[in-house]
Amino acid sequence: MAKYTPMIEQYLKVKEQAQDAFLFFRLGDFYEMFFDDAILAAKELEITLTGREGGGAERIPMCGVPYHSAEGYIQRLIEKGYKVAICEQMEDASVTKGMVRREIVRVVTPGTIMEGKAVSDKSNNYMVCVTEAGGLLSLAACDLSTGELYVTSVPFSEEWLRDEINIYEPSEIIGDSKLLEIIASQALPGSRNVVHTAWERREDGLVKSQFGEAAWARLEEERRACISLLISYLSETQKRSLGQLTQIDSYEPGQFMVLDPFTRRNLELVETVRERSKKGSLLWLLDQTETSMGARLLRRWIDKPLLSRARIEERLEAVEHLYNQYILREDLRMALKEIYDLERLVGRIAFGSANGRDLNALKLSLRQIPALKELCSQSTSSTLRRLAEETDTCEELYQLIEDAIVDEPPVSVRDGGIIKPGYHERLDELREASTNGKRWIAELEARERAATGIKSLKIGYNKVFGYYIEVTKSNLSSLPEGRYERKQTLANAERFVTPELKEKEGLILEAQEKMVDLEYALFTELRDKLNMQVSRLQKLAERIAEMDVYQSLAAVSAEHRFVKPELSEGYDYIVEGGRHPVVEAVMKDAAFIANGTELRKEGSSILLITGPNMAGKSTYMRQVALLSILAQIGCFVPAERAVIPLVDRIFTRIGAADDLIGGQSTFMVEMADIQVMTEKATPRSLIIIDELGRGTSTSEGMAIAQAVIEYVHDHIGCKALVSTHFHELAHLQESLSGLRNYSMAVQESGDKVHFLRKLIPGAADSSYGIYCARLAGLPGSIIDRAYGLLQGLEQASLAAVASEHGAALQRAESAQGAAAEGYVTAQPRDIVREAVEGAEPFAKAGSESR
Ligand code: ADP
Repeated sequence: MAKYTPMIEQYLKVKEQAQDAFLFFRLGDFYEMFFDDAILAAKELEITLTGREGGGAERIPMCGVPYHSAEGYIQRLIEKGYKVAICEQMEDASVTKGMVRREIVRVVTPGTIMEGKAVSDKSNNYMVCVTEAGGLLSLAACDLSTGELYVTSVPFSEEWLRDEINIYEPSEIIGDSKLLEIIASQALPGSRNVVHTAWERREDGLVKSQFGEAAWARLEEERRACISLLISYLSETQKRSLGQLTQIDSYEPGQFMVLDPFTRRNLELVETVRERSKKGSLLWLLDQTETSMGARLLRRWIDKPLLSRARIEERLEAVEHLYNQYILREDLRMALKEIYDLERLVGRIAFGSANGRDLNALKLSLRQIPALKELCSQSTSSTLRRLAEETDTCEELYQLIEDAIVDEPPVSVRDGGIIKPGYHERLDELREASTNGKRWIAELEARERAATGIKSLKIGYNKVFGYYIEVTKSNLSSLPEGRYERKQTLANAERFVTPELKEKEGLILEAQEKMVDLEYALFTELRDKLNMQVSRLQKLAERIAEMDVYQSLAAVSAEHRFVKPELSEGYDYIVEGGRHPVVEAVMKDAAFIANGTELRKEGSSILLITGPNMAGKSTYMRQVALLSILAQIGCFVPAERAVIPLVDRIFTRIGAADDLIGGQSTFMVEMADIQVMTEKATPRSLIIIDELGRGTSTSEGMAIAQAVIEYVHDHIGCKALVSTHFHELAHLQESLSGLRNYSMAVQESGDKVHFLRKLIPGAADSSYGIYCARLAGLPGSIIDRAYGLLQGLEQASLAAVASEHGAALQRAESAQGAAAEGYVTAQPRDIVREAVEGAEPFAKAGSESR
């Protein structure tokens, strides 16, 4: 077998430690990749694939990227869901005999990236670790760029796993391989590519030293295991101290409202269903934060609405105060505007990647803190005053940076020009020496010109030759012999040095080199000092984020005329003049029509809403859910008055999911979700079902819808809103004491019919569709025939639902199925159907006008 060259042998050895990553193997000024890595990287990065002799029989595929522009390439690979192991030369090649030692210094993974797109905006980049032990499921989530670390555990539940992971939207998941398989198999709506890594090694010692024995002692055993696994993975990949991880936030899932992925998606809490953009979501509407930390905290609040009335009231108190105090709010905003992303700055300080500009950004941010603190402590809001008390202004850290770092430092930390004059005596001396030297050289130029009489003589500097005296060819004859030593010949000039220039150059360069080294040392010393204060700075960042979220919620509430909700421990949900906050905000010309809601334990816990397409049913139902969420994150709500009971869970089934998963599975997914709902919903939950049973035949759909409604009514007893196409279900009001029929009003004027978007008591008439057909000008005979058929249909269904469930299902199947089939197959009826579907803006109110 052919043996490879020592270099390739070394490569292969290192590669063994990074099987699942691209190995960026440092060779001089390049990172090179070989073998399969090279082939794949060339394709993914669109760079040229070459080859090189490596001692084997064949040339080895190879490609590479320059080290100074490697960052961008690494980020591209990470965004595509790969990992990149960075292997550096650990010795100076110019002084080493034989092979330079090379080691992996860091493995960059999607969940551990510290720079670039993944971490540049206002969102978190989480890595999640999952473990299972003794029937308990644990989950830890960490954002290395901000230093957040959460852990929790629950009795084993696949749904919970899905829900919680959906909330963190991690870019990477590690842990128990069986759990990873479950996660991979769960059909999440529009889930992104996530890198999975099975990982089993735990290192308790690391966790103890990172967070302290006390923190360790406070953790339950299963949470310890989970954190320990995560930290061992992080330390294995990052190979450096993770100073930004200073505390473990251990929480109980029961503290928060449960929102499953479909619900979060249907309600468009953080992104829209179609474009998957933040714009158009609830988060987008609420986000008037001034800082990135605030924006991220707001998102976390929306992800996890609270269940504790006291904690919600505390938030509401601050929001109310700022709602009423316009000037205070504006002052806060002005101060917050000047604050950079403290969490990520601190993350970079801890990670050792912060530069002079980062420290200055920290300084400028710290400068705002005393004013912010003052604003909050002067206010009469107890929440804001508490925040002020907890705010540590870190003034001495401001001073540390202010004293040391120049106002506009360069990006690089190794080339000098960072440290202020007067900060360090020795540095000042070296600077003085260097400036003196440069002055001496300027004087030398004048002297040489005088001595030689060559007016164009000049002294210059370049990296290769150092300082030189340049004389144009035409003037060479004026140069005296002897003292001038030729260094370099150009097209029309010659460059020389003299012994005294050389000597001075030595001194200048030495001073400069020392200066640069000293500056770097002083800079890292300062960075290390700040690194000792990471936990203080993180706590400060949390307070700032909280202030920012309060002012944002208050500003939005004021701008959109929201009111403070009255929270209740009771059952009833009573809203007067409620509006859908986002639909209202994006409406341009028309006004949003407000609608009240009364969901009461006695007599109206379920609202059955009928009405044609486009009447506003789903907007209304979403509005009801959004008001609950808004209230429970501590925000005002779009209404004239609102009494909101604490809701432990919101389920939504909304037809729109149809086009997302597609085909047969839609119905299965819907049923599986309904199953979860029947199992998990409590009397304190809120259920929203739009067009239940749409994924199957009419008769079956209707039968299932009725059965589900009855179950919710009789066995769960929670608040529910159900919209349906099946007008036939209206009769349920007679048998279910807690169900009320409602519909969306429409109004006729001449030939046109307007949607009033007003919720009115009573079921809608079933003949909107045919009415539309008439308006569209279909022949009278078709319209009459359609009405006739419809009547038959309605009678059949009434007969069907009057009987027991099982029988009803069967009968409805045959009667409805046949009728429905007749309805859609014959030609003229086809036209009716198409007309009905095509004529969306028309509908009629009341059955009299038939
Ligand atoms: P449905 O669910 O009955 O088919 P939607 O709720 O989707 O109807 O509403 C259709 C459109 O009507 C929405 O896109 C929205 O623009 C508008 N709309 C809904 N409710 C209102 C309202 N209360 N006021 C004004 N416009 C509304």
